[in-house]
Amino acid sequence: MAKGESLYDTSRVMSGYCDAIVMRHPDQGSVAEFAAATNVPVINGGDGPGEHPSQALLDLYTIDKEFQRLGKSLKGAHILLTGDLKYGRTVHSLIKLLSLYDPLRFTLVSPPGLEMPTALIDLVTSRGHQVEQRESLASNFADLDVVYTTRIQKERFTNEMNESFQGLSHDFMVNRDFLDQRCSQSTIVMHPLPRDSRPGANDLNVDLNGDPRLAIFRQTDNGIPMRMAIFATLLQVDELIEKDMRPVRWFVPDQTGTLDR
Ligand code: ASP
Repeated sequence: MAKGESLYDTSRVMSGYCDAIVMRHPDQGSVAEFAAATNVPVINGGDGPGEHPSQALLDLYTIDKEFQRLGKSLKGAHILLTGDLKYGRTVHSLIKLLSLYDPLRFTLVSPPGLEMPTALIDLVTSRGHQVEQRESLASNFADLDVVYTTRIQKERFTNEMNESFQGLSHDFMVNRDFLDQRCSQSTIVMHPLPRDSRPGANDLNVDLNGDPRLAIFRQTDNGIPMRMAIFATLLQVDELIEKDMRPVRWFVPDQTGTLDR
């Protein structure tokens, strides 16, 4: 592509080499354009600020597993999405996917200029969900079921924005204080990772690392079976795999992530 080849040509060439393609590209819409030129399955691994559907599926799988553990149901759940909701593609795909389910309550909290695109809010409200937008986390959220935090996607900022934006202010930081004071013992904390741990970024705080409410590493673990399932389904070998599945003999974890503590 650096030599000027089009998405169409690259797609046609690559399709002859393999049975499925996972594509990640900096431009929104590029994966759909690439997929339109081929017959092999194309999985969107992230198209710029557009979407990240496999992350949304693993996020939904995580929410479902965590809710089962906590004896909760998805129906009517209250989900907070916070951080960079404008360029964060994971939240775009997640809110779209969740909007296919029974009515939910969404609270969206982002710094000015990084709000969720209006088209997505309109889609979600047209499907019967409640959406509230707030400007900071400094208010009560006692009935929150999920806090989903995202990294500021600085790589997608224009130069002008880059200069004026230093990082998230303390008003947006999800940490132990926020969870203890404004949420409940059964609120789970998610993040698509990577979290930005540099000073001043104020991304999801490491002081929650030993807290069982932090589900981020259970999320990453869930990414493996979810991506395996996506491949198996698209390549139509899901039944074959199910027939051959058996527990591993060397290590059978009951649970993974911080719940082990
Ligand atoms: N890993 C996620 C993505 O590819 C989230 C992020 O980069 O902040 O979009």
